[in-house]
Amino acid sequence: MGALMRAHDWSGSSLGPPSGWPQSLRTAVRLMLNTGHPMYIWWGPELACLYNDAYCRSIGPERHPQSLGRPAVEVWAEIWPVIGPQIEQVMSGRGATWHVDQLVPITRHGRVEDVYWTYSYSPIDDEAAPGGIGGVLVVCTETTRQVLTARQLGAERDRLARLFEQAPIFMALLHGREHRFEIANPAYLQLVGHRPVVGKTVAEALPEAAGQGYIALLDSVFASGEAYRANGAKLDVQTTPDGPHEQRFLDFVYQPIKDAGGAVTGIFVLGADVTLRTQAYHSLRESEASFRSALRAGRMGSWETDHRSKSRIWSQEGMALFGLDLVDGRGRLGGPDDEYVAALHPEDRHLAQHYHALAQHQDSFAADYRVVRPDGTTVWMSGRGLVTARDADGKPQRLVSIVADVTEAKQADEKLRVERERLRLALGAGRMGAFELDMRTNELWWSPETFDLFGVDETFVPTRENVLDFLHPDDRAEFVKRRSDAIARGMPFLDEFRIQRPDGSTVWIGYQGRAEYDADSRPLRTLGIVMDISERKQVERILRDADQQKDDFIATLSHELRNPLAPIRNAIDILRHIPPTDPRVAWCHGVIGRQTEQMTRLLEDLLDVSRLSRTQLTLRIGRIELGAVVRQAIEIAQPVIDAAGHELVVSMPDENVLLDGDLTRLAQVFSNVLINAAKYTPANGSISLRALREGEHIAVRVKDTGIGIAAENLARIFKMFGQVESALNRSQGGQGIGLALARGLVELHGGTIEARSEGLGKGSEFEIRLPAGQGRA
Ligand code: ADP
Repeated sequence: MGALMRAHDWSGSSLGPPSGWPQSLRTAVRLMLNTGHPMYIWWGPELACLYNDAYCRSIGPERHPQSLGRPAVEVWAEIWPVIGPQIEQVMSGRGATWHVDQLVPITRHGRVEDVYWTYSYSPIDDEAAPGGIGGVLVVCTETTRQVLTARQLGAERDRLARLFEQAPIFMALLHGREHRFEIANPAYLQLVGHRPVVGKTVAEALPEAAGQGYIALLDSVFASGEAYRANGAKLDVQTTPDGPHEQRFLDFVYQPIKDAGGAVTGIFVLGADVTLRTQAYHSLRESEASFRSALRAGRMGSWETDHRSKSRIWSQEGMALFGLDLVDGRGRLGGPDDEYVAALHPEDRHLAQHYHALAQHQDSFAADYRVVRPDGTTVWMSGRGLVTARDADGKPQRLVSIVADVTEAKQADEKLRVERERLRLALGAGRMGAFELDMRTNELWWSPETFDLFGVDETFVPTRENVLDFLHPDDRAEFVKRRSDAIARGMPFLDEFRIQRPDGSTVWIGYQGRAEYDADSRPLRTLGIVMDISERKQVERILRDADQQKDDFIATLSHELRNPLAPIRNAIDILRHIPPTDPRVAWCHGVIGRQTEQMTRLLEDLLDVSRLSRTQLTLRIGRIELGAVVRQAIEIAQPVIDAAGHELVVSMPDENVLLDGDLTRLAQVFSNVLINAAKYTPANGSISLRALREGEHIAVRVKDTGIGIAAENLARIFKMFGQVESALNRSQGGQGIGLALARGLVELHGGTIEARSEGLGKGSEFEIRLPAGQGRA
């Protein structure tokens, strides 16, 4: 710069050549040129510019070297508003100026730059100058780099402070071995319930931490200089001022802070509250544990099938169900080593393929099959498969399966099925139907047999009310009453009633029911069976009738047997008192003889009937002629007919009619009918006997003009002891044996006997039909 100044043409400058410069300027310039520190001088009324080497590095080619000796206002026009007043202050004798990191933006290297300076403007005395001040000495340092660096650091610090303030993680700085809080961020304060901690030791600020070993931990980090790291550490802390202690879980680091010599001066605490995460993790663990115990309790198991890795991952429970023991529960998928397929019961093995096919289109499907365990036991499984992932083509990639051991239920089902079937068979065999009435819903269930019994098909909907409509009106009220009595008394209920089926038929129903009650003895439902007892009822009626007939017969028989006894006893009495020569002796013998004969006949008839009913009566069958039979019958009946003064007209076929039979027995049949005609016809009546051949049969009709037979008695009279009341009262009344015997005998011959009458008082006709014998006599 010295050389430059010496070579400079000063003629254009207000300073003139250096030789003419005043001493004070020359001294100041020498001082300036000899220092490495940037310096500047403005001199004279024009404030001509002078500067040294160190300074010219700060001004750029815009001002160096052409500004040398030029007026300040011209060189520094762009910053004159800043420096002009400061120069003026110095030149006017108002003292030096001092500026630190002053921004003075100047144009250098082609652009305006923010340039910072720390500088002083000092007066340079000159006696010759007006006011004694010849110029201004500028001692300056460009501080642009320092200013910018300091500013950057400040911004960094601000950012860190903000981070510290706003960080979701908690941070605190502890100083010294007593761990005194220097700073603590809001997250930290929140963790400790916004207690004022700064300035206090951990022991003072958080007394609960000591008891939980945290101070001991800090002590050991401080002593060892080794960081400590914790995951999910538990801390019981008051998270609200004066609030209850709460359990928090923390991830944190105790980071020792060391000085330049490596000595620990404090500990930086940094961490995050992971309570929510930890709780979620724990509850997940818990729910998984309870899920697994639920699986075990329900004898259930699960596995996941992964088609990409060709593996099956079994849960412990799943393996237990199948009797498998695989390392890590990892099984193989497909091929002969597939444990699942191998475990399937041979008859169910095809289902593996079936389920595979189902999974192609269904995300969820049911699966039921048997598994044979390694110990040889067979178990029934029931469960579902669920597709959890498919590839781009929709093919299942992963499947979760869950199954339960339902062996017991299956066995119970099977037992129930067999029992039901047996019950059904039993009910069917016994012509029984079952029913069940839910008293709360009034829902009535019938078994199929019940529908049959009531003569309705299964479209019929039975209800508590409409069932009563089936009951015979005479039986209905009693049934309802007895049933509700039985329910009220908690008794089983047996009843019998008639029902009328829709087709009009009447059926006797045997009913057995009982009710079930709740804890308060309220009836919940009634159940029982109904059965068709019509046959039993009919048999009962027959037995009852037979019993009645037997009673009547005994009464009649006693009567009939006693009747001949009276004249016999009378005759014997007379015989006892008359000499054997008395002419009345013959009369007495006659009476005794006739009466005994009647008793004998009666007893013989009885014996015949008894033999008939025990099928012990045998016929002496021979080829006989109908005329002979009729003649013998008339011979027997004639006295009775004549006694009543009846006229008998007989008409026989022209030719002889032959038949195969017992002559005596058939004569007995015809005589009985003829005698009846005589007996039940008022005196002087008319009786006709007409025999004719009708095809393969012989018909013999005996007709009278007698009392006739009421229609309702037509069938009865052929039964044993079947007498008609009005006829019985007649003196000739028989024993009710004759026609029964006659029918038995005719039927033994393969024939029939029947009675006809137009009604009481209108006479009767009996027709006996017998098979005609083949050929001729
Ligand atoms: P009985 O010894 O009472 O005649 P039967 O068996 O021969 O016994 O007859 C049974 C009943 O049939 C008689 O009691 C009578 O009531 C009735 N009966 C039989 N034949 C006639 C008839 N020709 N006219 C009217 N009633 C008759």
